[in-house]
Amino acid sequence: MQRKTKAIRIQTKKTQYREHSTPLFLTSSFSFESAEQGKALFDETEEGNIYSRFSNPSVQEFVDKVCMLEGAEDGLATATGMAAVFASMAGILKSGDHIIACRALFGSAHQIITQIFAKWGITYTYLDADASEEQWEAAVQPNSRMVYLETPSNPGLELVDLAMIGRICKKHNLIFNVDNCFATPIIQTPADFGADLIVHSATKFMDGQGRVLGGVVVGKAEYIAPIRFFCRHTGPSMSPFNAWTLSKSLETLELRMERHSQNALRLAEALEALPEVKKVNYPYLPSHAQYELAKAQMNAGGAIVTIELEGGFERVSAFMKALTIPTLSSNLGDTRTIITNPFTTTHSKLKPDEKAALGITEGLIRISVGLEAVEDLIEDFTQAAVVSAEVIAEKI
Ligand SMILES: *Cc1c(COP(=O)(O)O)cnc(C)c1O
Repeated sequence: MQRKTKAIRIQTKKTQYREHSTPLFLTSSFSFESAEQGKALFDETEEGNIYSRFSNPSVQEFVDKVCMLEGAEDGLATATGMAAVFASMAGILKSGDHIIACRALFGSAHQIITQIFAKWGITYTYLDADASEEQWEAAVQPNSRMVYLETPSNPGLELVDLAMIGRICKKHNLIFNVDNCFATPIIQTPADFGADLIVHSATKFMDGQGRVLGGVVVGKAEYIAPIRFFCRHTGPSMSPFNAWTLSKSLETLELRMERHSQNALRLAEALEALPEVKKVNYPYLPSHAQYELAKAQMNAGGAIVTIELEGGFERVSAFMKALTIPTLSSNLGDTRTIITNPFTTTHSKLKPDEKAALGITEGLIRISVGLEAVEDLIEDFTQAAVVSAEVIAEKI
């Protein structure tokens, strides 16, 4: 049986009410049937729920589904994606350790590595996504402990070769940690390439409908154990309500990712054919610099497309004004198409040279392609590209 079939069928044990849809265990704590049971649960001679900061059936159901989809041994859920990213590092690393990371990171991951860890004596080396195997290996130091990366990256959609990093990590005994948020386990399973830990912002495609925040870390049991200890005592636990919402969402994840990817590819192809659009970036377009790698490690291109428009912020503004369907928001991973200008929003705090290194230009638009009829999206984006080009031409 395929993992995705098993994931859909995973559910908390039926209660005496014989419910079909999964029940929600919205409870902060659990009762003991006797003093002996309380003692046994605490000294871990009996397994069971005690308190929802440690564990909860609704949360466990969500985690079990993600483990199944990612092909991972064990995992735990957190209140947000950032809590998952942070716990996956802070639960393992100690003062004096070194982390090797790809420079193209989600903004808050960059702040953890460069600002927060700096206070705790954890150092780092950044590499470009397309750095060679020699360059990655040259970054390894005696105190290197972990490699951390995102692929595809945000918003550059650069890919890192997972098989190559897997080889390096194995050779140098490094923990291989991947943020798989953009691809989801439907499109790419890093564990197949040797990843030890996989983190997600469940807020994005796992929920997929813009309702709840959540995060999840899955991977090898030996690495999940210290992360679980860290979370149990520092308390970034996922709410049972959010877990219940996310668990149901996972049952449609494959369906949604397939449609997101189909729509994104068709929209990317249509926009690439327009003279009014300077550049289109999408991993499954043959014009993408790492198209071959995309085909090798992903089974679809995902939902995120970026385009570049000429004419600076004025053009961006005119383009956004002309669009009728998409929402302007800094979020992504929704049934409804969302667009943002990273230069002035999500990545506005980066220094000019950092923006340049990541390809974040003034005219860059990130599109999180939704599940609307793609013909309507193509029509809307096409007219907005044309109209906004005319607005700029009139001003010259
Ligand atoms: C959004 C996001 C995060 C952070 O997730 P939150 O749920 O917002 O805390 C981390 N990594 C990537 C790639 C993201 O897109």
